[in-house]
Amino acid sequence: MATAGSGDWDLALPCHSYRLVPVRKGLRGKAFYVEEGQDLYAIGHELQFLWGLAAEFVPIPQEQFAELWEDFCRRLPKIGVLGNFSDVFAATALEPSPVGRLLARIFAKAVHLGASDLHFESLRDGLLVRLRVDGALREELRLAGEMCVPISILLKTLAKLDIAERFRPQDGRFGLRFAGAAVDFRISILPTKFGESMALRILDRRRLFRGLGDLAMDAATATAIRAALASPSGLFLVTGPTGSGKTTTLYAALSEMDCPDKKVLTIEDPIEYDLQNCLQAAVDLSVGRTFSTVLRSFLRHDPDKIFVGEIRDGETAEIALRAALTGHLVLTTLHTATPREALLRLEEMGLERPLLLSCLRGILSQRLLRLNCPDCRGPENSELPPQLARLRRENLRRGIGCDSCGGRGTVGRRAFFEFLSVNEKSFQEDGAGIGSLVRAGMGALSAGEVPLEEFLQQMPWNR
Ligand SMILES: [Zn+2]
Repeated sequence: MATAGSGDWDLALPCHSYRLVPVRKGLRGKAFYVEEGQDLYAIGHELQFLWGLAAEFVPIPQEQFAELWEDFCRRLPKIGVLGNFSDVFAATALEPSPVGRLLARIFAKAVHLGASDLHFESLRDGLLVRLRVDGALREELRLAGEMCVPISILLKTLAKLDIAERFRPQDGRFGLRFAGAAVDFRISILPTKFGESMALRILDRRRLFRGLGDLAMDAATATAIRAALASPSGLFLVTGPTGSGKTTTLYAALSEMDCPDKKVLTIEDPIEYDLQNCLQAAVDLSVGRTFSTVLRSFLRHDPDKIFVGEIRDGETAEIALRAALTGHLVLTTLHTATPREALLRLEEMGLERPLLLSCLRGILSQRLLRLNCPDCRGPENSELPPQLARLRRENLRRGIGCDSCGGRGTVGRRAFFEFLSVNEKSFQEDGAGIGSLVRAGMGALSAGEVPLEEFLQQMPWNR
């Protein structure tokens, strides 16, 4: 079965858009069957303009074409999903232009792959289009540099930004409907040396977890978190490196804490998803709205639970602690590798150890590890480091790359968790807290689910 690897999609998508069937088998041909009566001049012009494709056409009668088309679509089921973009346009109310059609296809591909970010990067030799999927950037398309201006104008129009402004950064957001579901895009436009570069964060509500149960978390950890979050007051921390899913976990926890008799406030940078029955505020440095200033005024709004997106400075830490000690439950995240580092960081920020010990309801550490592609995983041949010598190498697997994983060898990610109840010892060593996080990762490693390289990179195994 033919599938659409990343190298093919720039040809496969135009085939679907313009109803073209490659004359030769496969997708590499540049001659196409088309249904008789099409405006071949217009199609040829767009193919040349958008995809740099000098195409030849072989018009054939309608019935004959219909058969070829059906067969072609059967051979490319994955692209078939991306075939219909009319609903994207219905939402944008933009005239379908060649650039609009191209953008709609890029959006659709990004949403279909579950990408978290979409980048348009102005480089010396053109506009590079990349997607971040499972935390890794992949190149999707290279467009002519001249495409930058029409694409940026269209994106600015969607986000209701100033289309004439090309020399100052701009931020905005817009929503589209994709296959009936709402997808939000948060866009940031930055003038760079060879033209504007655009970064879009894709917020697909269908991918939002509704509760801790959706996170593939073991029952004991989930119970410990729920107990900590049921406390009327105190501090609950989630630690881990950037991109380890800390915010996702707290969103999931907040979503399942359906407490109509409680007032829940959040302060985020920026707000990623709308949470029901919560008041959400975003940090905005341009008007002096920082984590600490919002947190301070939040305390006058009589909240029960407060979610602070991240503790970055001593002032925020201090107000959060004071709130936690005066009858509020504060949930927050810290960018540290281990719970012990988080505790030491809070001490460095000026929080006193006895106060921390009395108000911390728990620390959750987490890691997000890529998983081997089930279609192409094979033996792992690398040497095991001494610390892992007791694992059996013949049980380990690594993806070598195939069509279904786009050559990456991995598909999807899984989160690993570790809940720590804090005591005096937690300030001295990580062993007790972080041990089972590494053990869980080692289990997945031995089961051939996680590549060795990914485990070594992500886990705090050597601390
Ligand atoms: Zn694969």
